[in-house]
Amino acid sequence: MKQAKLRTQLVLWTVALEAVLLVTFATVFVFVLRNTQNQQINETLHLGASQLNAVVDVRNGQYTVAASETADLRARGLMAWILTPNGHLALTIGSAGDYPLPNTIPSTDQTLESTLPDTTPIRLLVVPLNEGNNNLGTIVLALPLRDSQAFLWQILLGFAIAIPLMLGLSAVGGLFLAKRALQPVAAITQTARQISAANLSQRIDLHLPPDEIGKLAHTFNEMLARLERAFQREQQLTSDISHELRTPLGMLKTQLSLARSRPREAAALLIMMTDMENDVDRMTVLIEQMLTLARVEQRGLGEFVPVALDDLLRDIANQLQPKAATEQVTLWVDIPSQVDFHLAGDSERLRQVFTNLIENGLKYTLPRGEVSIHASRHRQTIEVSIVDKGEGISPEHLPHLFERFYRADSARSRDTGGFGLGLAIAHAVVQAHDGTITVNSEVGQGTTFTVSLPVS
Ligand code: ADP
Repeated sequence: MKQAKLRTQLVLWTVALEAVLLVTFATVFVFVLRNTQNQQINETLHLGASQLNAVVDVRNGQYTVAASETADLRARGLMAWILTPNGHLALTIGSAGDYPLPNTIPSTDQTLESTLPDTTPIRLLVVPLNEGNNNLGTIVLALPLRDSQAFLWQILLGFAIAIPLMLGLSAVGGLFLAKRALQPVAAITQTARQISAANLSQRIDLHLPPDEIGKLAHTFNEMLARLERAFQREQQLTSDISHELRTPLGMLKTQLSLARSRPREAAALLIMMTDMENDVDRMTVLIEQMLTLARVEQRGLGEFVPVALDDLLRDIANQLQPKAATEQVTLWVDIPSQVDFHLAGDSERLRQVFTNLIENGLKYTLPRGEVSIHASRHRQTIEVSIVDKGEGISPEHLPHLFERFYRADSARSRDTGGFGLGLAIAHAVVQAHDGTITVNSEVGQGTTFTVSLPVS
């Protein structure tokens, strides 16, 4: 309905504009034509008057004109009444003989429009009939206007027929073209109508030329693809979270049932409660990590402050030394002291990222292995690498490592307590700093995570 309306509106506007243009053109054309005709009539009258002045012969009160001159004037459509100085009619030229002298005539050298008794429109010109300085009378010259007026009417009639015809054709052609041009819009509307949350795989048929509407359809399809991906991610996330929560909840439920199944001693109950607390802790960690990820992805980071990255890394390394000692892994730092490692960033989130990377290094490195932290600066970028000589990651996992809930070795990771969210959080935080995080790994050789951050 709307589309039909738009089509009609388009055509109506075009036709209205054309009508204004055509009518203006016709008006100007007729106006110029009339002016030209007027000039020509006046010229003919004046020429006729000069000619008559030269050829009227007055002898003994007799006014005569040579027959050839009369024929010439008549051929040009002119007629004339020649009056004596007393105002008596002395001679008529052309068809003037058929009519009396018009009642109203213009003053000397003036023109006037009038009509003959048979309603023929004429233009009159009055000039004195002179020979040298002698006035021999008056010439009243007339030119019938019927031919020129008829011509003007014909032109007007031509416009009156041609303009509506042209507008009609233009409306039909416009409607046809508008219909063709707007047909893809109908396809887009149709597709949009079919789309629901459960059916985001619909796309507009893309056999369209690369014009504005083709581009619109393409953009619409891209938007649908993005929506579909986002929707799939959300669905995946919901199922991942449910899955992750089910295990600790199930264990909690089992512990509770066990505890209630028969009377137990306080010590046994305490052990059970400790296990239950661990399950609750695990769920809390999951929820906290999810919240962190959602906050960073949706709202970005907190206020950026100057951060001395070298100090931050050394501090984290110091904090993790006891853990490294427990795991029997050597943790060492290789950061040049004379380089400026200041950057603008969210200190707390950066601490979280590097802590996670170093903890992963410790986690996936066997006893007597080592984890090292390196930092370097290249112009406006600071690069931090966490290198471990651990078990490494197989190549097929590498492209997915930064996805939410992705674990390269789920059995082991679950053992070691991770949800596969640490690297996703790291990725989101680094991205929010306009930085990049990459991984290099070889099975059996170890893994290197490299974080590049812009200084400002
Ligand atoms: P998790 O909390 O499970 O460690 P992460 O997002 O931090 O989650 O890591 C995702 C997965 O990547 C881990 O489960 C592990 O399989 C793998 N991984 C991460 N860091 C290392 C590493 N330094 N060495 C080997 N594997 C690693």
